[in-house]
Amino acid sequence: MINIGVLALQGAVREHVKALEASDVKVIPVKRVEQLEELDGLVFPGGESTTMRRLINKYDFYEPLKEFAAKNKPIFGTCAGAILMAKELVGNVEPHIAVMDIKVERNAFGRQRESFEAILPVKGIGDDIDAVFIRAPIIQEVGSRVEVLAEFDGEIVVAKEGPFLACSFHPELTEDNRMHQYFVEMVRSCVVPA
Ligand code: GLN
Repeated sequence: MINIGVLALQGAVREHVKALEASDVKVIPVKRVEQLEELDGLVFPGGESTTMRRLINKYDFYEPLKEFAAKNKPIFGTCAGAILMAKELVGNVEPHIAVMDIKVERNAFGRQRESFEAILPVKGIGDDIDAVFIRAPIIQEVGSRVEVLAEFDGEIVVAKEGPFLACSFHPELTEDNRMHQYFVEMVRSCVVPA
């Protein structure tokens, strides 16, 4: 069975665990660095990226997460999680785990639309994905190896670069598990059978 972790320092952890459990995988809320060793893939949940980064430093996750990504193990970041994955952040802010060649702007949809829901086509996943945006970031720019999977109002909201998947919205807050199923398939295709 495949093991997928959810980084459990802060944010919407339980919801991701539930969404992943709908697929036939073992889901592990990750609170200690040693747990990373048993994982085939990892989710960075939504929440608050600066808080999450502070906890990553506090519990010595920074280097181990960089190493996890350097092994090309799949990572799925949603909302704050996508912010953690970006190599570049708007506003001269230092990037965090910096694994994807994307430039991300935090809280980019403005006050009137702090949170909203939309039905979006996501390439390779579905034409009608239920997307909940909460103080969501947008992906302003992507590098040449990054594939854009979805846009909303002309802004990039889902992108993939090899084993890394970033999404501005919160697929874990709906009953629609297709984004998680897609990630599970990404993980399966990376795991070499024993
Ligand atoms: N605005 C948050 C941040 O900057 C992300 C919001 C979310 O994850 N719902 O980290």
